[in-house]
Amino acid sequence: MSGIRENIAAVRQRMAAAAERAGRSGEEILLVGASKMNGAEACREAIAAGIDALGENRVQELLEKDAQGAYEGAPLHFIGHLQRNKVRQIVGRVDLIHSVSSLELLEEIQKQAEKRGVVQRILLEVNVGGEESKSGFAPEDTLAAAERAAALPNLSVEGLMTIPPIQTEPHGNLPYFEKIYRLYIDIGQKVYDNKLKYLSMGMSDDFEDAIAAGATVVRVGSAIFGMRHYTT
Ligand SMILES: *Cc1c(COP(=O)(O)O)cnc(C)c1O
Repeated sequence: MSGIRENIAAVRQRMAAAAERAGRSGEEILLVGASKMNGAEACREAIAAGIDALGENRVQELLEKDAQGAYEGAPLHFIGHLQRNKVRQIVGRVDLIHSVSSLELLEEIQKQAEKRGVVQRILLEVNVGGEESKSGFAPEDTLAAAERAAALPNLSVEGLMTIPPIQTEPHGNLPYFEKIYRLYIDIGQKVYDNKLKYLSMGMSDDFEDAIAAGATVVRVGSAIFGMRHYTT
């Protein structure tokens, strides 16, 4: 037994408890299974156990597993670093791209979505820690990016996503989550008529703090699928 079903149930319980502490309901928070490095069988098990969506990081891996029927029955999200030349391979196939991190990517997604005659749902990724090694809009540039995106007809911006810097202290990410929550509310008011609905933040080690700060989507990998074994 892989334990995926039990792990999802345990994560849901922790989500519900964290939501309750914040005066919210766990049912309003989307659980995305971060299934990188896990095979099609594990993805199907997670879907059978009621995961809300699966999220992949690499276009190549996503296409291979998609061809094996890994995602049948659940929405598919793209959550990893996206290269411009790979955009056309996922536009119109994935339900939501979490990781739109530059104006060039916005333009390329618009172009490919227009070609296919679809509206692509996206989130804007914010580099909340200002880290060189991470992609994403600087917090102070995100409002301008949202305004630009709002003018592109084949894009639907539905919220923000962030990955804070790695922390060593417990609850170290909380201030970062709170900062992006404020940005999400501000941009929602100024550009989207308060209609943004997805704030994607929190992973296996910190999703409870993300929920405390207002996350509506958490992306959980190892707490569902077990530790990943990196071979290279
Ligand atoms: C892998 C990954 C996750 C999940 O990480 P865990 O720590 O395994 O829960 C979430 N978001 C992104 C973008 C990821 O790449």
